[in-house]
Formats: sequence, structure tokens, C-alpha cells
Amino acid sequence: MGDLSELFAPGRVAVVGATEREGSVGRAIVENLIEDFDGEVVPVNPKYDEVFGLPAVADVGETDADLAIVVVPPHIAVDAVRQAGEAGIQNVVVITAGFGETGSEGAAREQELTEVAEEYDLNLVGPNSLGIMSTPKGMNATFGPENATSGNMSFMSQSGAFITAVLDWANDEGIGFKDVVSLGNKAVLDESDFIDAWGTDEQTDVVIGYLEGIEEGREFIDTAREVTQDTPIVLVKSGRTDAGAQAASSHTGTIAGSDQAYEAGLEQAGVIRAESVQELFDSAQMLANQPLPDSKEIAIITNAGGPGVMSTDAVGDSSLSMASFSDETLEEFSEKLPEEGNIYNPVDIVGDADNDRFSEALDVALADENVGMALVLTCPTAVLDYEQLAEDTVELRKEHDKPVAACFMGGERVKPAAEILQESGIPNYFDPSRAVFALDALSDFKDISRREYDEPTEFDVDEERAREILESVKGRDDTRLGVEAMGLLDAYGIETPQGDIIDSPADALEVAEDIDGNVVMKIVSPDILHKSDIGGVKVGVEDEDVYDAYEDLITRARNYQPDANIIGVQVQEMVDLDNGVETIVGMNRDPQFGPLLMFGLGGIFVEVMEDTTFRVAPVAENEAHTMTEEIDSAPLLRGARGRDPVDVDEVTETIQRLSQLVTDFPAILELDINPLVALPDGAKAVDVRLTVDPDEL
Ligand code: ADP
Ligand code: MG
Repeated sequence: MGDLSELFAPGRVAVVGATEREGSVGRAIVENLIEDFDGEVVPVNPKYDEVFGLPAVADVGETDADLAIVVVPPHIAVDAVRQAGEAGIQNVVVITAGFGETGSEGAAREQELTEVAEEYDLNLVGPNSLGIMSTPKGMNATFGPENATSGNMSFMSQSGAFITAVLDWANDEGIGFKDVVSLGNKAVLDESDFIDAWGTDEQTDVVIGYLEGIEEGREFIDTAREVTQDTPIVLVKSGRTDAGAQAASSHTGTIAGSDQAYEAGLEQAGVIRAESVQELFDSAQMLANQPLPDSKEIAIITNAGGPGVMSTDAVGDSSLSMASFSDETLEEFSEKLPEEGNIYNPVDIVGDADNDRFSEALDVALADENVGMALVLTCPTAVLDYEQLAEDTVELRKEHDKPVAACFMGGERVKPAAEILQESGIPNYFDPSRAVFALDALSDFKDISRREYDEPTEFDVDEERAREILESVKGRDDTRLGVEAMGLLDAYGIETPQGDIIDSPADALEVAEDIDGNVVMKIVSPDILHKSDIGGVKVGVEDEDVYDAYEDLITRARNYQPDANIIGVQVQEMVDLDNGVETIVGMNRDPQFGPLLMFGLGGIFVEVMEDTTFRVAPVAENEAHTMTEEIDSAPLLRGARGRDPVDVDEVTETIQRLSQLVTDFPAILELDINPLVALPDGAKAVDVRLTVDPDEL
């Protein structure tokens, strides 16, 4: 996508559909633009000679504008955009609604709009957008009632209504913006384009957004990763319903909904995800105004015991930890604080603390090199001047160059102090947990900005053999594959137990005799998804029982479904489950993010426990390794209760190899290796199930 700087800083703006008609969007836009815009506004409307005293032209082609705002009705909007393109206007905001959001006719119109934009290489916002704002230029090209005040955050939203609500509130709170964009239907420019543009914009220090969906997941991840090396991105993503409404036949498909994909995708992108609007602004304001902490150690200075405990709890829920003070600090505290106080963290300077005691304590704490950040937590008392405390806090924050959050609890009484704090970039929170959350986001961002993203490992694999196996579904109604596709794993270097699929008891015995010890026998049929549910898996079969086991498996399958397509029986080497852990490694294709990998505990527990974790493929080694560490039952892998630890490196490699397989073959819609038995020495895939889309092959 092209450079968006002219979109936000045009010299001349054309309003196509400008009018003075009461209550119209065309009027609101012109009025909003005239108010502060440091540039020229050209009304376009063949019906008028002038609009609000500005000379109007009949055609956007006559405007010589840098940006065209289109508000004309839908049936002529596409033509207006085409004319703008023909006239060399590169930036267009389509306010007009009645496109993709309104059914098939609208969708066709949107398609046409996209084609026109492509033809002329336009930076096109919308359609169905509230418009855009950019405060350095004083440009309010929206039809909203409120203009933004200037600041260093840039804000995009998929809901225009939400923008108007946020601005109304933000103006009250003294929160300002650099650019504001109502994304509309995102026919051309989407979130990734704006993240990319703001990432290199000197005046944007934080990118924030409200999104309902992400168009191109992988592009989003790659763009955001680069931007978050120095610019934080905080997003609220709404809508936890399942976008991937495909009927899933794998465990991974059942568990992996679109929210798992977003959670994984945003995490991998380095985006800080806010669960609410409050979290969005709490963290964004901190990120916009304060330095990054040197450590996660927080000091809490308070004149109130109860809130002190609350904030300590909040620290416990965060990634931060309570700082342990140095000996010198403790000595100074004992000298300066009354005996009934607490010199340890949270530092209780007691209810009768005056301003001197408060700021002295904060000064001492911030000077301690074990302290990375501080929280000033106070309840109103008769001896404390809140405004003075606010000024001292601002002063000390600057002097020590460490992040400080304020929690001056109260209502009317704290307002003037909160304003002093806010003006200097120290947001005041009523609730200590919000203050801790915001500091935590700051510390999170520090970790994100230092992340190194490794390239995925490229394993040497047999892609041709894999393709042949996948192509076996061509021409079939049922495109699911089971253990008959074990070779697929083998082709990608994922270890499978010794064994074979045969279709007679005699052959079964032959295979069994080749295998050391007892064997496992399984029914092989595309119609039987969960083999053990029908007694279709026999574990620990001795050679002399192989004949009977074979007949019994076939009988069970016939009883279950008389016309089942039975391929045969798999005879497989026993894997040492006593010393192993059953895990699941799977993939489900998400409509936005593509292949979503899952790892968790496997076997029969996966559905009940849902102790799983997700990543968008392809993953690098460190990401695959993190997956094995972040499930709740990770200690089981490391050898709980005197058992040997399992080979986590091999599990990690299996995740990476599966990642490569599903990246190489978009035709694989979903896949489970359940279980992948992790052993003290190696890992073996004993079962596999997948669904293939032959059209993608
Ligand atoms: P399904 O999931 O269709 O029921 P599986 O092949 O996963 O069939 O087998 C079910 C369970 O049987 C596995 O979770 C595992 O506990 C056990 N099992 C399967 N194959 C083996 C094997 N080769 N060695 C040891 N246990 C096995
Ligand atoms: Mg299984």
C-alpha cells in the first residue's frame, strides 16, 4: 500500500456531495472541515455555485484536490470515485453506505469500488465510514458531532458510532489523538495498512483500535510485528462468535474457534489485547506518556492499608512483582516513617501522613535500583493536600525517569489533582487494579519491543509422497482420512510406530510377528471417526490372539454401521504409555488467520480438559517450544511424581514439522495427531485424522 501521509495531511480536500441541506451528512462534513482545517475545502455539487460561501464545482475532476470525501448516494458513489481517480486524486474516503453491509447488490457495488480503487491505485477508506481526522492539520473530515483534540495516539475503529462516543469522553478526560480513522467496510485500506502507516509516523506514539475482525491474518501479524518493535499497539477485538462455521470433525476443529485464532494471532503479532474499552485507554495512556520500566519490580506507596492490600493482590494477578527494597532504602524508611507504618512493600506511611512524608517516601522508593516503577496510592485525609501531592508526583516521576501510576481514590475531591496528573501524562485511576494493569501493559510492551522473531526451520521432507497421499481423496465424496494416511506424517519426518494396514487375519499375524512384543490393532474405516468409541482399538494383543482380534474388530465395525466402508485393520507396535504422556498436536484452518496449530494433553482428556494452546502457522522453534511450556499441565511433561521427563524437544520438533506440512498444503483443512505419545526418548504419532479439500490440491 502506498504512502498514507497525504491522506492525513492533504492541502486541499474536495467534498463530493457537499450541501447546506439541514441534517445531511454532506453538510456536517463541510461544517466540520471548515471549522479548523488548515487547508482548502472545495465543495463538489453541480446543483450549487457555492456552499457555506465556498465556491462549488460540478465535478471532482475540477478540484485538483489531494483528498476526496465522497458522500453522494451509493448509485453514483463509485462513479465519483472513478472520476477522482481519473483526475489523479490518490486519496479517497467513502462515507456513503449501502455497500457490502447491505446484501448482494451492495456487495457487487463494493466489488466494483474495489476494482476502481485498484485501477487507480487509490488509498481508499471505507465505504460506510464516519470519516477521518488528523489533528496536526486540524482536519475533521467526519460527520460526527465531536472533533478530536491533539495528542500522540492514533485510533482506528470498525465502528463509527464508537468513535463519536470515545471522542466525547476523551475530550472530557483531556485525552488527545493524532489521527482517527473510521475503517468502515475496509474495501481497500484495512487495519494492517494503518498500523503500517502509523508505525513510521513520527507523531504517533501509540496505535489503538477497536476491531470486529481482521482481514488478512498473516499480513496483519507480519506488519504488526515490525511496528511493535517500537510503537505499541493496543486493540479491543469484539465478537467471540465462531467465524469458522465449518462442521469440524477433529478435536482441534471443535476446540479452535475464531477467538482462539485472534488470541494467538494478536499475541504473535505483539499486539496488547484489551478486554474492554477501559483497559484499552488505561494501558494506551500509560504507553503514550511514560518511559518503559527497567524491571517488573513495583513499589507501592500508600497512606491506606486496605487499598494497599488490593493493589498487592492486583500485582499478584499481573506479570509484575512486588519490589524488595535495598538495605539503604529500608534504613531510610525506618528513620522517616512512624513505627506503626510498614517499611516493606506496600509501604504504608500511615493515615496521618502529610505531603512531606508522602513525597519523601516516593522519592526514596524511586531512587532504589531494585524498583522499576511505582504506584502512588492514597485516600483523602485532612492532612493531605491532593494537588500538592499531584505536583510532587509529577516532579519525582520526571526526576527518576521511572513510570509512575496514580491511584488517588475519591470523587470530586480528587478532580483538580487528577487534572494535574493527567496533564503530565500520569493517568489517575480510581481502582488500584486498573493502575496495576496499566503498568503491566507498559512492562509487557517492553518485552514485546525486545522480541526476536526467528524464521521457521525448513525441514527436509518428502513433499511428493505427501501430495500423493492427499490426492487419494480426489473424486471421493468423503474427503476425510484416518490412520491410512499415517504415511503423510512419515513423509514429513514425524515418527510413527512400526506397523501396517492389512485386510486379512493371516496378513495381520504376519505383521504382528514382525513386531517385537504385543501389538495394537485398530479398525480402519473413514466412517468410524472415534475408533475406541466402538471398541475399535485393541491394545496389548498377543500373537496368538491376532486372528480373533481381527474378526472381532470387523464384527464391531459391521454392527456399528452395516454399510461402513472398511479399509482393513491396522496392526501397530505398542508404544510405552506407562512412561509416556499422551499429547495432541493439531491444526484447524481459520478463515482469517489460516492454519491454527493446537497443542495440549491428548488421548481421551483433551475434550474434557481443554488444556490447550494455539499459534498461527508457520511457527519458529522458539514459538513451538513455548507451546509445550504454556499449557497448565506442562509439569507433566517435565516429569511429575518421580516419572522421567519426556522428550520435549521432540514434541517441539513435531509441532514444527506439522506447521511445515499444513503451510505447504492449504488443502489440509483440519488435522489431529491424537495422541502424539511423548516418551522419555522421542515422540510417536499413533493416530491421525484429517480432512482434505481436493480443490486446493
Ligand atoms: P481413536 O482416537 O480413534 O479412538 P487411537 O488410535 O487414538 O484411536 O487409540 C485410542 C487410544 O488407544 C489412544 O489414545 C492410546 O491411549 C491407545 N493407543 C492407540 N495406539 C496405541 C499404541 N500404538 N500403543 C499404545 N497405546 C495406543
Ligand atoms: Mg485418537
